Amino acid sequence: MPTKLRYLDDVQLHQIKAKLLRVESTDQGQFYVFDRTIFYPQGGGQRCDIGTISNNEGQIFDITYTGFHDGEVHHFGNFDQHLPEPESEWKLKIDPETRLLNSKGHTAGHLVHLVMEELETNLRATKGHHFPKDAYIRFEGITDTDRVELIEKANENLKKYISGGMPVTSRILTLDQLKSKVPNIPFDLPEDKPLRTITIGDYPPVPCGGTHIDDISQLKTTTITKIKQKKGNTVVAYTFS
Ligand SMILES: [Zn+2]
Repeated sequence: MPTKLRYLDDVQLHQIKAKLLRVESTDQGQFYVFDRTIFYPQGGGQRCDIGTISNNEGQIFDITYTGFHDGEVHHFGNFDQHLPEPESEWKLKIDPETRLLNSKGHTAGHLVHLVMEELETNLRATKGHHFPKDAYIRFEGITDTDRVELIEKANENLKKYISGGMPVTSRILTLDQLKSKVPNIPFDLPEDKPLRTITIGDYPPVPCGGTHIDDISQLKTTTITKIKQKKGNTVVAYTFS
């Protein structure tokens, strides 16, 4: 049964109750599967949430990693040998600081994407990696603009947008609705599933399943630090906090 991903519809939810469906042991350790979760599983260029799970019997475990597999979120942690009752109720709690930092990094990535494509119209974003200390957006295409000048100009625009602020909103769209708003969708998207999209200000929506902050004014420290070009791709590194 797919895990219901509550962070998609309410990113402010930092704790919920969930029903335990299964406990499984693998080479990577033991993991718990619940009917719903607020833990963002690692993927899509975003680090996972960490936190705790606890039950009415006083058991409390740290969740140190969450992964996504066949529609299920696997909650890995350091559990003891006493196996819980199936169907038992647990309280899931995420670490708010990790969530906030991950959400900032991810939203900053969208903003870097937007600023770069605005300055260099032949660039098309193909990948985002939003980990603290190792964040970058990769674009297909290269540019003749002097890199020092480009970094300067891009940072100027970043600063301008961030100090003005713009809301970040999420919406579910069908592929046809998305295509009518965005002429060039650079990657393959499922035809038959509703898509979760995010929008910065009045810019076109972008399909994304991550967590975000609700206004870019919270991204004051975001800075583009490096631009590398290799094999027809441009990689733009950035920092955030
Ligand atoms: Zn996103």
